[in-house]
Amino acid sequence: MNKTDVLIIGAGPTGLFCAHQLGIIGLTCEIVDNLDKVGGQCIELYPDKPIYDIPAIPECTGEELTNNLLKQIKPFNFNFHLNQRVEELKKVNDRWHVKTNANKEFDVASIVIAGGVGSFEPRKFPVKECEKFEGNSLFYSVKDKTIFKDKTISIFGGGDSALDWAIELSNTSKVNLIHRRDGFSGMEASVQKVKELNDQGKINLYTKYQLDSVVGEDKIDTVKIKHDEGELKEIKSDYILGFFGLIMQLGPILDWGLNINKKQLK
Ligand SMILES: Cc1cc2nc3c(=O)[nH]c(=O)nc-3n(C[C@H](O)[C@H](O)[C@H](O)COP(=O)(O)OP(=O)(O)OC[C@H]3O[C@@H](n4cnc5c(N)ncnc54)[C@H](O)[C@@H]3O)c2cc1C
Repeated sequence: MNKTDVLIIGAGPTGLFCAHQLGIIGLTCEIVDNLDKVGGQCIELYPDKPIYDIPAIPECTGEELTNNLLKQIKPFNFNFHLNQRVEELKKVNDRWHVKTNANKEFDVASIVIAGGVGSFEPRKFPVKECEKFEGNSLFYSVKDKTIFKDKTISIFGGGDSALDWAIELSNTSKVNLIHRRDGFSGMEASVQKVKELNDQGKINLYTKYQLDSVVGEDKIDTVKIKHDEGELKEIKSDYILGFFGLIMQLGPILDWGLNINKKQLK
């Protein structure tokens, strides 16, 4: 059990600046975020976009703002606990016991909820049996690309993440890129690159196809994809990557008995 003064839920700009203010008055804190990185919406949704409305900073990007906030709290050496969502809060005497979905526990005097619009969750495949393979041969983000070396990867999606990873992994793996439409929403330069790699046989492109089902015992062995017009194809695959964007949801925060106007937030 981690014992500290304050637990901050959310490592977005609000949580980071809050940590600074706590440090200034001599309190200790631990910071938890569901994302795999610090910075909240600024780093996840617009790291390169310029921001013009920060006091005394005429212009900076989402990433620069995050880096500066991190620099500001560096002297305090606060700990981050990433990739985990705060699930449970329990009042125990005059303190709070807090638990994350990674089973990390905290014993704190106060909690700051700096959860913004909520935690970011990947939009998932609607196919039921996908759940079984999640985290072992089916992923919604890439944490360690070396596991894909010399394997066959089926990537689903038509935005920047799907295109970028298809291009990147085609250097070391056999890549199938499957998208439910003809057109892509990613950057035009990446779309062109994918088409070139398809012509060179380095990526197999399937448009107007969607995932139909997944076959395998402990790990994925084959994916079945279905064309708009009903044709089914079977593709041998060691891994599946799904990039369908993120959904933001307040999630467990709605269950903590707070006086929140749920209608507005849903
Ligand atoms: C495309 C875009 C452009 C924008 N441009 C601007 C701009 O130019 N200027 C401007 O001022 N604002 C801009 N904004 C708005 C700005 O990004 C937000 O106001 C700001 O990020 C809010 O900061 P925050 O720290 O409160 O919340 P967030 O940035 O939303 O961070 C909250 C964090 O809490 C985490 N979290 C939530 N619940 C849990 C939980 N239960 N457990 C663990 N972690 C949890 C989330 O994962 C998230 O990382 C923009 C927003 C978008 C989407």
